[in-house]
Amino acid sequence: MTNSANTFKAINLAKEQIDALESQLLKRKLRATESPCDTKALVEGRELKAFCSNDYLGLANHPELIKALAEGGKNYGVGSGASHLISGHSIAHERLEKQLASFQEQHIPNARALFFSTGYLANLTAITALAMLAPQKSTSIYSAKLNHASLIDGIRLAAAQTQASVSLFDHTNIDSLSEQLKTDQNPLKIIVTDGVFSMDGDLAPVKELLKLAEQYDALLLVDDAHGFGVLGKLGHGILEQGNICSDRIIYIGTLGKAAGVSGAFVCAQATFIEWLIQKGRPFIYSTATPPAIAHTLSKSLEIISGDEGSNRRTQLNKLIRIWQDEMQFSQWEKVSSCTAIQPVILGSNANALLAAQLLDEAGYWIPAIRPPTVPNGSARLRITFSANHSEADLRQLIISLKAIEQQVMEKASHE
Ligand SMILES: *Cc1c(COP(=O)(O)O)cnc(C)c1O
Repeated sequence: MTNSANTFKAINLAKEQIDALESQLLKRKLRATESPCDTKALVEGRELKAFCSNDYLGLANHPELIKALAEGGKNYGVGSGASHLISGHSIAHERLEKQLASFQEQHIPNARALFFSTGYLANLTAITALAMLAPQKSTSIYSAKLNHASLIDGIRLAAAQTQASVSLFDHTNIDSLSEQLKTDQNPLKIIVTDGVFSMDGDLAPVKELLKLAEQYDALLLVDDAHGFGVLGKLGHGILEQGNICSDRIIYIGTLGKAAGVSGAFVCAQATFIEWLIQKGRPFIYSTATPPAIAHTLSKSLEIISGDEGSNRRTQLNKLIRIWQDEMQFSQWEKVSSCTAIQPVILGSNANALLAAQLLDEAGYWIPAIRPPTVPNGSARLRITFSANHSEADLRQLIISLKAIEQQVMEKASHE
């Protein structure tokens, strides 16, 4: 036996790096819940009021969806057994994809949808496959600075595979994007943006971006993870809300947030979807999601665009308005957001952790969000609402937040 302490360096490196994260207050911690995702969570034996999930419509623990999951299990078993192109593609997937395409058909001509097990996978697949449409070194990708990590990773992978050029733009001021597109000689240009920015809650200027895409013959990829299910009268998302229609939009929605279950989809005109099926490696080489999940999602989509979905969106919008009215007197820095994502910016990691801890002591579950999820110096509480929250739940939270704001400010001023 060799002396493993001398040869096994990786474990020491790992320990050092983790210690460094701890000392920068950047170490993350898993907490296991003992209850279904809802407005109350049982965590480590305590019941906390949760304002941190993305279950905006309160469907994650919906009795009809629980029933649909059991029914799906009965009809299709528990595993798909293979990737979609081998034998894992079920009629339950097929039906779901048709429903998803019908949600966007007024916004994307000749729309077809492709279902994925996660949004992360959908983004990796869509961006890498689209970038491959042009020869090496002839794709330009324009990415909004605050895009979700899965878009960033999809872009990194695409750039590594195709030598695409990548530039960033500020979604609140797209003049520089316009300047760059003007001189771009590449045959393939892809503009990539979150629909609703996941940590700020504001919306991308999709109409203006589409105008640029049309002017400079670019594709526009919109990741509507936080808009699907909640935006628009029928909950079909940001394109419905903006009354937008274009065949150059690649729309991505996720199904583990407002839809309450799991999974994601890409919706685009059929030719692009055909290309993803041919060349999208993360799609091709991954086992299909259990059909029972697709079956459950079909039911979720029915709820979303029906009366119940509409009532749930009404409740959610009521909560957002109360928050906007009540919190305007708080000194805490907020982002102007009209969605169920309402961040309170605390700046330092220490302040964000302190606020999260004080909230925990007051019986709330709202974790601190720190870099690299958000830019350095903008650590925050990311407060989110669900249609299952009552007006009273929210008013209580606001009272607790105002008390905690006082405490955090006093502590900060003593440092
Ligand atoms: C959550 C999220 C994703 C990832 O979706 P998953 O289904 O959770 O993998 C992608 N994009 C954005 C903007 C998100 O917020």
